[in-house]
Amino acid sequence: MQCPNPVRRLPSLTVKPKLIRPLLLPIPLLLLMLGCGYGAYLVSAGAGTRGLIESGERQLELHARGVESEISRYTYLPSLLELENSVSDLLLQPSAQRRELVNGYLEGLNRRSGSRAIYLLDTSGRVVATSNWQDADSYLGEDLAFRAYFQDAVRGQPGRFYGIGSTTGEPGYYLAHGLVHGGRVIGVAVVKVRMDALEERWEKARLQAFVSDENGIIILSSDPHLRLQAVRPLSPADKERLARSLQYYWWALNEWQPSSRKPLGDGVEEIGFRDRDAQGQEHGERLYLAQTRRLNDTPWNFTLLSPLRDVRHEAMIHGALAAVGCALLAFLLIAWNERRKVLATRLAAREALQQANNELERRIAERTADLRASNQHLREQIRERRQAEQTLRQAQDRLVQAGKLAVIGQMSTSIAHELNQPLAALRTLSGNTVRFLARGALDTASSNLEAINEMVDRMGRITASLRAFARRADDHGQARLGKAVDAALLVLQVRLKACPLSLQREYDDVCLGIDQTRLEQILVNLIANALDAMSEQDDRQLWLSGRRDGALYRLTVRDNGPGIPQDARAHLFEPFFTTKPGEHGLGLGLTLSASLATAAGGSLGVAYPEAGGTAFELSLPLLPTPEPSP
Ligand code: ADP
Repeated sequence: MQCPNPVRRLPSLTVKPKLIRPLLLPIPLLLLMLGCGYGAYLVSAGAGTRGLIESGERQLELHARGVESEISRYTYLPSLLELENSVSDLLLQPSAQRRELVNGYLEGLNRRSGSRAIYLLDTSGRVVATSNWQDADSYLGEDLAFRAYFQDAVRGQPGRFYGIGSTTGEPGYYLAHGLVHGGRVIGVAVVKVRMDALEERWEKARLQAFVSDENGIIILSSDPHLRLQAVRPLSPADKERLARSLQYYWWALNEWQPSSRKPLGDGVEEIGFRDRDAQGQEHGERLYLAQTRRLNDTPWNFTLLSPLRDVRHEAMIHGALAAVGCALLAFLLIAWNERRKVLATRLAAREALQQANNELERRIAERTADLRASNQHLREQIRERRQAEQTLRQAQDRLVQAGKLAVIGQMSTSIAHELNQPLAALRTLSGNTVRFLARGALDTASSNLEAINEMVDRMGRITASLRAFARRADDHGQARLGKAVDAALLVLQVRLKACPLSLQREYDDVCLGIDQTRLEQILVNLIANALDAMSEQDDRQLWLSGRRDGALYRLTVRDNGPGIPQDARAHLFEPFFTTKPGEHGLGLGLTLSASLATAAGGSLGVAYPEAGGTAFELSLPLLPTPEPSP
């Protein structure tokens, strides 16, 4: 029967890496990283900028208020002069004495208020008294009618003006007030204030801020380079107007030119500046958040510049972190996916293995059932064979027994003959003994009784051998070969004396698995047959030779007799086959011997040596030879 292969093809437990994957994967991964990084950068920059705008608004408010309070500190000062009679006296009726008086007053007032200068103009715009009347660059006598603050103030409007002094060339904030007397303006009081303190404060606070006036000119700045630059483009007409007013003296009002400007909301824009080294070479761009607020009560704007560098730097770090995080996440996802695939493959392999195992177990169970059935069948056969063997053995036993009985029957004639002679002699001797005793011939009677004893012994031996032959014996006893040969020769002693022969012994005194008596019977039969065959010749030779053959011992009983005729060979072991004449042969000897040998697990066979004669080979199971008792 062909055995089908129970092992199926199982899925591989390892996942083969796909070649295309490592080639294509980095591109989307890189794009994803860049996308994540850029997204995070934008979000972070947006959030940072919003945060900066919020904090900038607070700063803007704080510092704008500072500027406003600085300006408003002096607002009241020019109007104070209206209350001073000496001032109105001087303006109405000028005299050297009154000028001197007012000059002294203005000087003292200027010193106490901390302003740069306080001076008085008549309605024609000429300086009639000033706090710096003693200085070399005193304003006294100067015509300032061209100044916008004078023109405003003389019209009764408050004059606010930032400009560069035409005498000193020094920038300052001018506050002018038209002095009214009797319902008309009789002169203008002007206070000049330096705003340097504000700039110094900004610088100290590392604040980048500037104030631009109504013309868009930067009048105050923490960065000196920005001062007097225009924050918006000036038209040629504006430029001419400003040049004529000498508001900014002779300064060239360059336009402030950031490298980039991007409005972010109302009053908020992003401004970039090019960094330049000493040789004027450009090195990147510096970005600022510019927040502008109108200063109250002035046409001026306060602008706060907050560097965006830190925000951008932080946004770049966030972007880089996001890109790395994204890549890490992507790698984790890929690894998880690969792991999931490997696990799925393993699971499939395990299931396939389990199925194959189940299939194998099912087939084994089928085979086992088949084997069990055939085993059962074999057992039945063995049981039947054993039964048959037992029946056969019983039949053999019965046959042996029948053979023995037949032999006994056959022998009974000669036994009766053997026993009748001594019985007749016994009767005669016993009758004679009775008579001798009656006569008192005790010696004769005694010798008769001795003869009677000898005869009884002889008769006992005859019956004993008959009983031993007839009795059932054990099929698997133990026998010593040497003892059995000696016993057989003893049984045949009488015949051996009548027909002497030359006996060759070449065997070991082994222990054989057969009843001792049965072995003796077999040997008696074989040796007796040899004696019968050689009875007619003078040279009688008998060889008893043995050899071990595995678990058997083979004993050959060979004679140099005439051998067995061809036609008789096929019938040797048949019961009642004999070539012996008259009462000599029963034809049971070989049959019984072969049965006894087979019953003991051995056999009896015949061979015809080329040298002549006959050789019977008796094979019997070998038993371990017991240690001779000391
Ligand atoms: P029986 O001795 O009563 O004839 P056996 O069964 O012992 O019966 O022997 C059967 C026959 O086998 C004998 O009659 C004889 O012809 C032949 N035979 C047995 N042994 C020998 C022998 N050693 N040599 C020649 N013939 C033999």
